[in-house]
Amino acid sequence: MSIIIVVTTLIISCNEKKTQNSRNDQNPLYLEASASVEDRIEDLMSRMTLEDKAAQMSQYVGMEHMRKALGDLSEEELDKNDAQGFYPGFKTTDIARLTREGKIGSFLHVLTAEEANELQELAQESPLKIPLLIGIDAIHGNAYYQGGATVYPTPITQAATFDDSLMVKASQQTAKEMRATGTQWTFTPNIDVLRDPRWGRTGETYGEDPFLVGNMGVAAIKGLQGDDFSGSDKVIACAKHLIAGSQSVNGLNASPTDVSKRTLFEMFLPPYRRAVQEANVFSIMAAHNEVNGMPGHMDEFMMTDLMRDRWGFKGFYVSDWNDISRIAKWHHVARDFKESVQFSVGAGMDMNMHGPYFQDYVVELVNEGKLSEERVNDAVYKILEAKFRLGLFENPFIDLESIKSKIFTEEHKQTALEQARKGVVLQKNNGFLPLKNVSGKKIFITGPNADNMTTLGDWTSPQPEDNYVTIKEGIDNLAEKYNYATDYYDCGQRSKWITDENIATAKQRAAQSDIIILVLGENSYRHDWKNKTTGENIDRATLALSGNQIKLANKLFELNKPVVVVYVSGSPIAEPWLEQRAKAVVNAWEPGAFGGQAVAEILTGEVNPSGKLPLTVPRSVGQLQMIYNHKPTAYIHKYNTEKKVPLHPFGFGLSFSKFEFSEPTVSKADFAGIDDTITVEVTVNNTSNVDGEEVVQMYVRDNRSSYTRPVKELKGYKRVFVKAGESKTVSIPITAESLAMYDKDFNFVVEPGDFTIMTGNSSADKDLKTTTISVKNGFTIEKVN
Ligand code: BGC
Repeated sequence: MSIIIVVTTLIISCNEKKTQNSRNDQNPLYLEASASVEDRIEDLMSRMTLEDKAAQMSQYVGMEHMRKALGDLSEEELDKNDAQGFYPGFKTTDIARLTREGKIGSFLHVLTAEEANELQELAQESPLKIPLLIGIDAIHGNAYYQGGATVYPTPITQAATFDDSLMVKASQQTAKEMRATGTQWTFTPNIDVLRDPRWGRTGETYGEDPFLVGNMGVAAIKGLQGDDFSGSDKVIACAKHLIAGSQSVNGLNASPTDVSKRTLFEMFLPPYRRAVQEANVFSIMAAHNEVNGMPGHMDEFMMTDLMRDRWGFKGFYVSDWNDISRIAKWHHVARDFKESVQFSVGAGMDMNMHGPYFQDYVVELVNEGKLSEERVNDAVYKILEAKFRLGLFENPFIDLESIKSKIFTEEHKQTALEQARKGVVLQKNNGFLPLKNVSGKKIFITGPNADNMTTLGDWTSPQPEDNYVTIKEGIDNLAEKYNYATDYYDCGQRSKWITDENIATAKQRAAQSDIIILVLGENSYRHDWKNKTTGENIDRATLALSGNQIKLANKLFELNKPVVVVYVSGSPIAEPWLEQRAKAVVNAWEPGAFGGQAVAEILTGEVNPSGKLPLTVPRSVGQLQMIYNHKPTAYIHKYNTEKKVPLHPFGFGLSFSKFEFSEPTVSKADFAGIDDTITVEVTVNNTSNVDGEEVVQMYVRDNRSSYTRPVKELKGYKRVFVKAGESKTVSIPITAESLAMYDKDFNFVVEPGDFTIMTGNSSADKDLKTTTISVKNGFTIEKVN
């Protein structure tokens, strides 16, 4: 009797559940905001078919973006072919239909707020009403959005600030601007440790040092996501690109990387470990390239064994642009797209960027037993978790009316300006700057980057004229205050447009002035794809200036007038001769919307420069790989025709103040174990009569180790403001991690022995003072599982 009752109850409760879960259910649990995220996901997933789940793993580009890709097709042609540029055989009306049917889970490159709302509306018409997760490359501000957002300096410039808290602030503001315009997921930070500056994407990175890259990455993620990205002003960050594409063969984007497991663990992986463990990054993008023969998009060791199982990654993976299909097409490892999907998703990939067929293959592969449904469930769980935590089920739409009050606000503009002021690096100054006695003088300005959007860098849509200040405008804006006159000559807006005739005219015009400001550099500006000289997919075969820029400089030097060179470039310029002849060299990097103002303020001394180089500037491309944290035997021997020291070392940057550093002192000499900390103190004395900010840097060397270790590694830094004639003491902690290395089994350990601690204001030996600490008994920080 009792058995019958139990069975009957079970049947009833099963039936109840079925009815509860049916699609006709008017009040499903997953739509109840008060239920827990876990319960909501479970409820929703119990209602989803395998097809619904695979759809959540699929991303498409926005419809406007598709149309744009077709360039100048006529309206009629567009009508017939509008999506052919991206997805042959599909029109944008098909994409709209698929969204309405719930067959697309995510979009990228939705460039207007109107389109974001339009797509979410379509998703609301779908059977399960699952909102879309909309991603965009908001790399330095939401600059890719087409409605005039705040454009912060590019990541390489942000890294040059050595200011993590400013990075948090800029990222919080970016998140606000994104949510205001309908996107909730940014494909940043790029935490690739830059090891070859020929790579056109150098400007997207935080430079060559794993510690600085890790700090900037963690700061960016914390700013973007907050604690857990819940709430309406947070977004999901995406650490990219796993892994090591920044040291590809020949510096070419997407070409193979061949580095040892040791180099991967010591140089490239630390920022990823920290992004996961310190900042809980919720998405990671795989890299285009293969590493040691393994295409990044099917690297099970990286995605699953290391990041998830050993380091505890809790979010989801997204592919890079079409890279799953390229496992077959480019890498020739899989037979076709379907097998690529099998390899990739099987290895841990969760979402395909971008387009059709992927989801059909996922379904087929599960039905054929080649992919487990559990793997699909795992992927979908994380993607839905993101949507629930972001509050998208409650608020999929944005209020178009309020956008203007939320983006490009005074507060955000101020942060962009402050980052530019702190990120510009003064590379040379023979006392000529700040400009003195300029009253009544004429300043001649020319050069391809003087008066256009190259200062905004890559990943920027064209910005409204009033939203940014070019270098020429910045200098013009201060003319009245300092009573100088300016004369600007447009010698060709791109380095390759400078003709001999332009050069002759520039010389004639410069002859009439007292000071020459020459704004040179490279151009990564995405919307000028044909004339870009660097940036994504345009790598540099030389680190010298492109086009006729040196010819222009030569002619102007013939006038024997003072020349100040300003570089606008996301990657380093190796022109030792030019630097030797210029009175001063200001490396503005890509300083963003207010970069022109910041540069002018530095030229005139309104702002005292304090930026530091986040990478080594080599003297020539032949010196590559020129990095400061090299191994001990790197420079035993010589080149036949080139020096073996760089043009400028990592961490270097001049100030108008003069700073002197004390010897470092340590709170104690023995480092006791995993939870111990030693504090290093340094006193910075401003011996000049100018107030200024300095970046105190601390490097560590493991004096003797079981595997070779770099000659020095940055392990701490602090920005400090010191008034003229005053001094300040700065303390920097040495933690167990500052001393750690990977042992023969790749456990993360601290070996016993002595460590040299170096402090100063650049990585060059001449700028550093040292002390020593020791570890009596070695210990393990993290063991391989
Ligand atoms: C880049 C990624 C970027 C993606 C989406 C790819 O070409 O490699 O970094 O996030 O496009 O725009």
